[in-house]
Amino acid sequence: MNTPELEKNWKVMGDEAISGMLEWRQQHPHATFREIETEVDERLAAMRARMLSDTAMMSKAAEWETAGNVPVCPECGTKLEKKGKRKRHLQTRGGQEIELNREYGVCPKCGEGIFPPG
Ligand SMILES: [Zn+2]
Repeated sequence: MNTPELEKNWKVMGDEAISGMLEWRQQHPHATFREIETEVDERLAAMRARMLSDTAMMSKAAEWETAGNVPVCPECGTKLEKKGKRKRHLQTRGGQEIELNREYGVCPKCGEGIFPPG
């Protein structure tokens, strides 16, 4: 995804979070501060997870073959064998699960499967 596309998607996401929050407030006029906080947190956490995964996918390392340098095994320094893209699941600090489609490599020497960093 390119930058203008991301920007557009993020703005839509932000608008949805804002209008969703305003709508929620109308439906919960007597909500406590804690309840409001939970709602805000949930909306921001979803946005945060999406921004994290989108930004991580823009990383140069996401394009293994075009990066020019083949990643090496952190254990023994052997060049990794490319095994194509795999889904990588990560937990954000907010406890949201994000899924990244990343290049995956296996070390021919020690058999370690690795997602290159970045
Ligand atoms: Zn190795």
